[in-house]
Amino acid sequence: MTESDVSYLKSVIHDVPDYPIPGIIFRDITGILDDAKAFQLCIDTMKTRYQEQGITKVVGTEARGFLFGAPLALAMGVGFVPVRKPGKLPRETHSQTYELEYGQDTLEIHQDALTEDDVVLMVDDLLATGGTIEATTHLIRAVGAKVNHAVFVIGLPGLKGHERLHNLNVDVFSMVEYE
Ligand code: AMP
Repeated sequence: MTESDVSYLKSVIHDVPDYPIPGIIFRDITGILDDAKAFQLCIDTMKTRYQEQGITKVVGTEARGFLFGAPLALAMGVGFVPVRKPGKLPRETHSQTYELEYGQDTLEIHQDALTEDDVVLMVDDLLATGGTIEATTHLIRAVGAKVNHAVFVIGLPGLKGHERLHNLNVDVFSMVEYE
């Protein structure tokens, strides 16, 4: 990523103040999706960074992780596995509940989606507190697969998600960051 790549991505990400609640600046990635140059830049950058890491599966979390994870998996020539909200996956699942700022949430993965031979790259649009990807890491490891990398379009380092993931031995790369 060059500085001009970062500036270009920031120019198409819409910053929406006070959404969904007062005090939050929502980083809206739909401006990347509708700009083929920006979307391609994201997928190419991720692919280049991870193509020599022996990745066998890309895992994306609902819902915006699907938007980047599926094209990345195709570009890397590996399969894509969705991690979803409860009740959305039709076959046997593993579940992981995790804490939100207020309350809890649960994520699920199909039990047979990964094997012990898989080496996984996790993808989401944005890393905030890291709770979503921490839960996803536990799901992937519960089925015996290896996961030590997570990639994001956007990182919010002030929320310390990268430290939380480093404690789980997960290396983090965010293409653009906002303090
Ligand atoms: P976290 O689990 O705290 O790392 O939150 C990450 C998830 O929440 C991602 O799937 C994001 O899509 C969403 N998210 C959190 N904060 C924001 C934000 N400021 N703008 C857009 N999406 C966000």
